[in-house]
Amino acid sequence: MRISTITNWAYGVTVGLTLLSGGAFILSARSADHERQAVVESQALDELSERLTMAAEQTSEDARLFVMRGEDRHLQAFRGDENGERDREQALKSFKAAALLQQEMALIQEIEQDGEALDAIEERAVTAYTNGDQEGARQTLFGAEHERVQSDLLTSVRQLTDLIATRTNDALTDAKQWSDFWGAVAKSLLGLTAAVFLGVLYFVLRRRVAMPLMRMTGIVNRLARQDYAVEVLTDNRRDEIGEMNDAIQIFRDNGLERERLDAERRADQRTKDLILQMMHRLQACQRQEELAEVVSLFAPQIFPDFAGHLYVMNDSRTALSSIGSWREPRRAGPVLTSAECWALRRGRPHVSDAAAGDIPCQHLEHADEMGICVPLSAQGDTVGLLYFEGASDSQAIASARLYFELIAENIGLGVANLQLRDRLMGLAIRDGLTGLLNRRSLDDALNRIARDEQGDVIAMMVDIDHFKRFNDEFGHDAGDEVMRRVSAILSETVGEAGTVYRFGGEEFAILLEGGAEGSALDLAEKLRTLIAATPVTYHGRLLGAVTISLGAASTTADMPSADVLLRADAALLSAKAKGRNRAVADWVERSSTDRRRA
Ligand code: GH3
Ligand code: MG
Ligand code: MG
Repeated sequence: MRISTITNWAYGVTVGLTLLSGGAFILSARSADHERQAVVESQALDELSERLTMAAEQTSEDARLFVMRGEDRHLQAFRGDENGERDREQALKSFKAAALLQQEMALIQEIEQDGEALDAIEERAVTAYTNGDQEGARQTLFGAEHERVQSDLLTSVRQLTDLIATRTNDALTDAKQWSDFWGAVAKSLLGLTAAVFLGVLYFVLRRRVAMPLMRMTGIVNRLARQDYAVEVLTDNRRDEIGEMNDAIQIFRDNGLERERLDAERRADQRTKDLILQMMHRLQACQRQEELAEVVSLFAPQIFPDFAGHLYVMNDSRTALSSIGSWREPRRAGPVLTSAECWALRRGRPHVSDAAAGDIPCQHLEHADEMGICVPLSAQGDTVGLLYFEGASDSQAIASARLYFELIAENIGLGVANLQLRDRLMGLAIRDGLTGLLNRRSLDDALNRIARDEQGDVIAMMVDIDHFKRFNDEFGHDAGDEVMRRVSAILSETVGEAGTVYRFGGEEFAILLEGGAEGSALDLAEKLRTLIAATPVTYHGRLLGAVTISLGAASTTADMPSADVLLRADAALLSAKAKGRNRAVADWVERSSTDRRRA
């Protein structure tokens, strides 16, 4: 019940009880008045009875004294007592005026008749005495008739007195009882009012208001300090305190919700910051390995619940290989074919979720688990795939999906940029026909060697003998084929020992950094014999023997490295001059005895 309702009820009950109590007091006071009236009435009737008795006895006494002694004063007293008779009549009148019962009225009449009879006897005796009949007067006054009438009168007066006394006593007792009753009722109601007042004061103020308020004050203080861990007890009371409790509960729930949203916003902001950081680093990557490293480092921070792979498309565009992974993905291997992935086929993100009724990608093991594939594309071209697995909560995937696509877009652009950059670099530094590094790369290498003062360098100039003949006899394309074959043999044979460049036309240069001159000569000889021994065909036609001439030169750290090429070229000319298909070396003079000039 609401406190206001309780208070209103208590107020109403208190007012009602107070009114009842007041009414009882009034009734009690009126009963006390009745009691007082009954006492007064009783006293008055007692007095009247007394007066009646006195009047009857005194008149007879005076009459007797007169006839006994004959003294005048007794006659005067008797006559005076006749006035007393008037007193008796007045008393009787007063009796009649008072509301008397029928029985009492009958007694009054009897008393009147007896009084009149007695008066007549005494008047007769006094008259007889006055006329000289003293004996007759005495016999009349002391005779049996007077005795009887007087006795009847006094008996009637006594009866009347008794009756009235009984009646007034009853009325008095009745009035007293009522007075006591209403007094007790009034006091009880007053006590009840006080009890209700004190009870309500205790129950409402202490139990229903003060104690819950003190508890709530503690909770509100903690909530004010944003301590939302505080427990708000369920209060099922439907009163103001219960409503306040509900309001505090709502306040706490709102606080918790706000905290949750804040945490979500902070996590979201952190994710965005990490994505931004990753994007900045992706833009600065110069090689695909760097890009893979950046993605493998940031992806587990951005998506702590997911493991994954970063795949790139191979040159033949049939398969993809993982260049980076994080958190050890267990469903997807390091290689997959384009046809195995629904995301690559459809060109849009695909969630392999058998539980959701969608078809899983074929490159995934444990098809019952969840996996997300996001194609990496740039300018309409698919360059790779971003793969995630881990969280099975579809809500987590739905909220992360936007970010998957966002970073996939950036990683795709990054991969495409690096590939474009590699292609442009290749075009800038490589020769289109042979795939060898071009002359510019050679100049860069020589400049680098000069700048870094790297020490001993051996350069070889290679020229195909009578190359013009292939062009002339078999056509330019056949000449190109010869060029490709020779360059392939050169780069395969030199391998890690050095770098092969196309110098120009049908001439090549080889740089051997830090190589020994002896092994350089061996290499030159090996190249020459290998090429000479390799038959070259074009469209099924044998093009004839291909031979090369080589000129080699060495240099030291204290010599200008640009000269080494000139000296190698001079050695090549020398080889040509000596009949071609041979190697000539121009080694620098050194202090040691094993340096020789060939
Ligand atoms: P030598 O033994 O003195 O070196 O004689 P050679 O014929 O090899 O030398 P020459 O300088 O007379 O001729 C070189 C020819 O190579 C001239 C040029 O047309 C041809 N040539 C240069 N670059 C290419 C190329 O990329 N492809 C083809 N097919 N021919 C080329
Ligand atoms: Mg030539
Ligand atoms: Mg030439």
